[in-house]
Amino acid sequence: MSRPLSDYEKRKQISVRGLAGVENVSDLKKNFNRHLHFTLVKDRNVQYYYEKDPKRIYYLSLEFYMGRTLQNTMVNLGLQNACDEATYQLGLDMEELQEIEEDAGLGNGGLGAPACFLDSMATLGLAAYGYGIRYEFGIFNQKISGGWQVEEADDWLRYGNPWEKARPEYMIPVHFYGHVDHGPDGTKWIDTQVVLALPYDTPVPGYRNNTVNTMRLWSARAPNEFNLKDFNVGGYIQAVLDRNLAENISRVLYPNDNFFEGKELRLKQEYFVVAATLQDIIRRFKSSKFGSRDPVRTSFDAFPDKVLASPTGVTVGRGVSQHWLSLCQAWEITVKTCAYTNHTVLPEALERWPIHLLETLLPRHLEIIYEINQRFLDVIYAMFPGDHDRLRRMSLVEEGSIKRINMAHLCIVGSHAVNGVARIHSDILKKTVFKDFYEFEPHKFQNKTNGITPRRWLVLCNPGLAEVIAERIGEEYISDLDHLKKLLAFVNDEGFIRDVAKVKQENKLKFSAYLEKEYKVKINPNSLFDVQVKRIHEYKRQLLNCLHVITLYNRIKREPNQHFVPRTIMIGGKAAPGYHMAKMIIKLITAIGDIVNNDPVIGDRLKMIFLENYRVSLAEKVIPAADLSEQISTAGTEASGTGNMKFMLNGALTIGTMDGANVEMAEEAGEDNFFIFGMRVEDVEEMDKKGYCAKDYYDRIPELKQVIDQLSSGYFSPKQPQLFKDIVNMLMNHDRFKVFADYEAYIKCQEDVSALYKNTKEWTKKVIINIATSGKFSSDRTIAQYAREIWGVEPTHHKIPAPDDPRE
Ligand SMILES: *Cc1c(COP(=O)(O)O)cnc(C)c1O
Repeated sequence: MSRPLSDYEKRKQISVRGLAGVENVSDLKKNFNRHLHFTLVKDRNVQYYYEKDPKRIYYLSLEFYMGRTLQNTMVNLGLQNACDEATYQLGLDMEELQEIEEDAGLGNGGLGAPACFLDSMATLGLAAYGYGIRYEFGIFNQKISGGWQVEEADDWLRYGNPWEKARPEYMIPVHFYGHVDHGPDGTKWIDTQVVLALPYDTPVPGYRNNTVNTMRLWSARAPNEFNLKDFNVGGYIQAVLDRNLAENISRVLYPNDNFFEGKELRLKQEYFVVAATLQDIIRRFKSSKFGSRDPVRTSFDAFPDKVLASPTGVTVGRGVSQHWLSLCQAWEITVKTCAYTNHTVLPEALERWPIHLLETLLPRHLEIIYEINQRFLDVIYAMFPGDHDRLRRMSLVEEGSIKRINMAHLCIVGSHAVNGVARIHSDILKKTVFKDFYEFEPHKFQNKTNGITPRRWLVLCNPGLAEVIAERIGEEYISDLDHLKKLLAFVNDEGFIRDVAKVKQENKLKFSAYLEKEYKVKINPNSLFDVQVKRIHEYKRQLLNCLHVITLYNRIKREPNQHFVPRTIMIGGKAAPGYHMAKMIIKLITAIGDIVNNDPVIGDRLKMIFLENYRVSLAEKVIPAADLSEQISTAGTEASGTGNMKFMLNGALTIGTMDGANVEMAEEAGEDNFFIFGMRVEDVEEMDKKGYCAKDYYDRIPELKQVIDQLSSGYFSPKQPQLFKDIVNMLMNHDRFKVFADYEAYIKCQEDVSALYKNTKEWTKKVIINIATSGKFSSDRTIAQYAREIWGVEPTHHKIPAPDDPRE
C-alpha cells in the first residue's frame, strides 16, 4: 500500500518533470534571503543591536547635507578599486557614472555637518541613528543669469532614490492643532488633525568595520480619511486635493543659513520630526529587553540609560509627557535623555517662536512649556531673590509686543549637557548669550569642536593626496587621523615635498579642465588658487575678499609693468532667496569678474570667478585644487566652520581671522604656518563699546577710498552706476561686521601670502605641516568626545563579525 503523496511531494514531482527539482528549493531560499537582505533591507545590524542592546544614540537634525552616496559607499566598504576595474571591463567609466547621481542636498551649509557625524558614528561602532526630514526638495539649485542668482527647485527624487527604503510598517501619527480639555478625568488634547510620518531608511556604512547604521528620514502622508468627514469641504475631490496640505510638511528645506524666519510651516517641520522620532524611540525601547511591550508594566526608569537624543539647533517637543508619567517624572527623564548643541550666536538666527503660533498649532505643548517655565523660574528666584531682571532675561517666555518662546532657553533647561562647536564659540556662549544659564548650572556647559570625516573629505575627494600619504605612513590614518602627525618627519623630505606639490598641481589642472568644460571659463592653472566657498552671508565677509580683489586690480593698473603673483580668486555659495544683501554680493562678485577678467592690461595675472551652485559634490572638486582657503569672518561670529577643516586636510594654507575653529587650527599648525590677521574677539568687543566708524578708515586709507569710490561711481556697473549703492551705504553706515576695520590687516596678510607662494618649496613645507597637524579635525575625534563626555557610551572601534553570506 502506498500512502498518498504530500503536497510537497506532488509539487516536487511536478517540478522534477518541469524544471530543476530540489535545486529549485535551495535557489528559492537563496533568492528569498537575498531579497530580504538586499531589497527589503531587513538588516542583520538591527538584529545585532537587538541582541546586544547597547545604549542607542539618536541624532536629531533638520539638516543632513549628505551629497552623493555611491563613491562614499565604495570607499567605506573597500570596494572602490574592484568597482573601478569591473566597470572598466564593462566598458563604463566610473567617474562618469558617479556624476549622474544627484546630491542629497538636505542641508544649507555647515549645519549639515551631521552627515559627517553619521559616518563617524558608524565607523566608531556606535548604535546611532540619524533622524530628520525627507525633504522632497532640498537646497535649491543656483543658476547665475546676467550675474544674478536665480533659484531652481531641487527635484532630486525625480528619477528615484536607490539608497532609501520606505518602511510603511513603522508609520507614526503626529497630531497638530485641536484644543485642550481640562476635564474631570485629566487633561486631554483633543480634536487634533493627524499627519502620518512615513519613515525612509538609508544605510550608513562605517569604514571597513562591517557595521551599517541607519539614517531614518520622515515623509509626511495624509491619512486616508483626511478631510473626508469634514462637511465644510467641497466633497470628495476637494478632500483628495487637500491631502497636499498635510503632505506639504516634508515638501521643502527652508533655504536660510543662520537666519530665523518664523514661518508656521517650519514650526510644523520641527514638531513633526521630533514627535515622530520620539514615538519611534519609545517603540524601540519598549520592544527592547529593558522596556516591555505591556504598557502598564513599562518602566521608563532605564530610558536615559538606553537612550540619548541629541537634537541640533532647533526645537525639542516633549512627547514623553504624553504617556502615563507625571510631568515631574517625564521632565526628569527628558533632561537626563537630551543634550543640546548650539550652532550659532547670531541673534537673528536664534529661534523665538511667537506664542500665537504655538497656541493654535500645539496648544497642550504651550501649556506644558508655561508649566516648565513656572517651575524653572521658581528655582531661579529662590537662588537669586529679588533679581527680577535676571528672571526676565532667563524666562523661556519673552514679553513684548509679540510674546515669544525662546527655544534655546528651553533646550538648555531641558538638557543635561549644552555645548558649542569650537572652543572660542563655547567660551562666548558662557560669557554672553547663555551667561545667566552658565551661572545657574555651570556643570552643563561643554565644548565639542567640530570635525569632518576623512573618508569623504580626503580619501574620496583627493585620492592622489591620500595615496602619497599612504606611501609614507600607511593607511591607518584613515580611521585614526592623528597618525597624520607622522608626516612631520617628511617636512624636509625632497621627495615628499615634490609629491605633495605634484598632486596639488594635478588637482588644479583637473579643476581647470572641469571649469572650462562645464562653464567655458579659462583660468591659469599656474596662478594661486584663492578660494572662498561657503554660504553668502555678511558675517562671512565675502565683501572683504571683493575689496582685496579690486585693490589688486587697481595695483596692477597703476603699475602694469611690475611683477605680480598671478591669482585666481574663486568665490562660490548660495544666498538665501529672501536675503537682499547676499544677492547683491553675488551680483558684485560677477560684476567685478566682468571688468577684471576682460581687461587686457590685467591678462591672466588676476581672475575673479563665481562658482555657480556650490554644493557638496562641487566642494569635493574645488577644495583639493585650492592653494589658499579664505576663512575671514568677523571674530566672534562663526561658531566653528567646517569648510576651513576640509581645506586644511587637502593641502591649502588658510588666511583667516581668530574665529571659530580657525583658532584651534592655527594652534595645531603653529601660527607661523597660518596666515592670521585682523581683530580678535576682544578687539571687536572693545570697538563695540567705543563705536565703529567706517568713515574713519575710508578717510585714512587711500586704497580703500579708491575702491569704495569706484563702487559708488559705477566703475563695476557702467550701465547702472547706482547698482551697488546699497552695499556702499551698508559698508559706510551700518556694517555690523566691520569690514573696513580689518581691511588693512587683510591686504597686508595677502601680501605675505603672495610672497610665500613665489617659493614653491617653502609654501609646500607649510602645506605639509598643515596636513600633518589636521588630525584633531576628524569628526571621529569629535564623535568620540561626544560619546564619552556627553552620551555616556564608549566607542568600540571594533569590527563586528563579518556577516554570513546572505545568499547562502
Ligand atoms: C563644508 C560645507 C559648508 C560649510 O562651509 P563653511 O565654510 O564652514 O561655512 C557649506 N556648504 C557645503 C556644500 C560644504 O561642503
